[in-house]
Amino acid sequence: MKIAKFAYKGVPAWGLVDGPELVLFKGHPLFNNYETTGDRLALKDVQLMPPVLPTTKILCIGKNYEDHAIEMGLGIPTEPLIFFKPTSALIGPEESIVIPSKISTDIDPEGELVIVIGQLAKDVSEADAMSYVWGFTIGNDVSARDIQTRDGQWARAKGFDTFCPLGPWIETEFEPEGQLIETRVNGEIRQSSSTNKMMFDVPRIIAHVTAAMTLLPGDVIFTGTPAGIQNIVPGDVVEVEVEGIGVLRNAVA
Ligand code: MG
Repeated sequence: MKIAKFAYKGVPAWGLVDGPELVLFKGHPLFNNYETTGDRLALKDVQLMPPVLPTTKILCIGKNYEDHAIEMGLGIPTEPLIFFKPTSALIGPEESIVIPSKISTDIDPEGELVIVIGQLAKDVSEADAMSYVWGFTIGNDVSARDIQTRDGQWARAKGFDTFCPLGPWIETEFEPEGQLIETRVNGEIRQSSSTNKMMFDVPRIIAHVTAAMTLLPGDVIFTGTPAGIQNIVPGDVVEVEVEGIGVLRNAVA
């Protein structure tokens, strides 16, 4: 099922995506047994929001596709490389990525499959990992490449406001193996790969992360991006598509 968070008349709510409509959940679907009110809204009449609780953590795996690790040129990780983006960077579908032009114009989108955690997770084995997953969504790990290189630490380069588009919804029945992942800018394909090309798969990532830190429901993990990074400029429109989930679309301002 596809679960969306949205604002309707300025109030956040959750709904089940049913074709062109949303069926409203009573409260939060994860904590309320997916009970619905039966009320329906047209998807076109709502503003979709990032589908998080909010989240306590936005974790990302760096250089998880070998071809991207090679284009970045700083070696291939031998275990999952973890970094954070701040929650203040989150934006939803159709919101604008804002280039911080006084600080950097060397801005790349990174299309990524994103894991959404469904229950408290600590020291989870690879064998059990999938039972802690609520579902999957799509993210764009927008990065100021010059600052990433200059700072060493990636917090600022990947942490600007609006640098974390997320959505359009959570797909709870998604199988993370062998799905097409594609990033398009103004309709032109920039990144096109398969989730099978991840060096560390979803269970390995969850086991690795939870060996270090406790994950809470609603925490999200970006699983890395394939090769094909290239700058975006104001006026561009970025679409990240993951087969089986949908399309995350954001303009650049
Ligand atoms: Mg990334």
